[in-house]
Amino acid sequence: MIKSDFHTHTLFCDGKETVDIMAKAAYTKGMDALGFSGHSHTPFDESYCMSTEATANYIEAVKRIRREYDGRLEIYLGIERDLYSDIQDLHIFDYVISSVHYVFKNGKYLPVDESEEIFVNNVKQYYGGDYMAFCEDYYKAVVKACSVNGSDILGHIDLVTKFNEGNKLFDTSDERYAYAVDEVLDVAAAKDKIIEINTGAIYRGYRSVPYPSFDILKKWNLLGGRIIFSGDAHDTEGLCYKFDEAERLAKEAGFETAVVFDDGELTEVEL
Ligand SMILES: [Zn+2]
Ligand SMILES: [Zn+2]
Repeated sequence: MIKSDFHTHTLFCDGKETVDIMAKAAYTKGMDALGFSGHSHTPFDESYCMSTEATANYIEAVKRIRREYDGRLEIYLGIERDLYSDIQDLHIFDYVISSVHYVFKNGKYLPVDESEEIFVNNVKQYYGGDYMAFCEDYYKAVVKACSVNGSDILGHIDLVTKFNEGNKLFDTSDERYAYAVDEVLDVAAAKDKIIEINTGAIYRGYRSVPYPSFDILKKWNLLGGRIIFSGDAHDTEGLCYKFDEAERLAKEAGFETAVVFDDGELTEVEL
């Protein structure tokens, strides 16, 4: 089983634990590698992300803990960069997860994953209840996220389905939906992005399966795309959460390998 997780959050953003506690847990669990990926600053919504000052402190804290665990646990300094973040300089980070958490509509940043109530109300208010139109705008934003300079990994690409378990709000077999997804996958494949299989929403009780859907995984496999496993962990229990199940799904979708960081390099490992 994959024993490394590169999508994790700490108290510097909306995580529940310090960098130290996350690293200790990863070491105790016998993990091979741990990557931190604090939420980049979004000036219009500071409720969950790192302020500019916190970003500087985060970088120092991860560098310090990396020195502390040298030779015992590989630690990486990453960032989860929202498409609408104002952070420009990304060169200091070992990797960048490019994610979309908002749809920009009528001058407003509409949160995609904050709560079901907010999501439903926004689709009503800004899209006249047309979920497909919201999904299309969301996936157009994900296409843009593929072009963020220095981005390696696409985060939770179908986040828009967070509150849609069992297709309760909209039908993901709708051809408009499939078309929007296909466009993302084509661009992601052309730019050689890595798509994450993200179990975070299972851990937090929103979904029974990881992002992305099995359908998307199968399409991504046919395009020859690469995958990485992530827990999107906001606490120690979320590290590598249900990776056994996620790996089984990936294999069923046709994947034989996944990507991890090993000795500072992106490396393919057998599943
Ligand atoms: Zn995210
Ligand atoms: Zn995250």
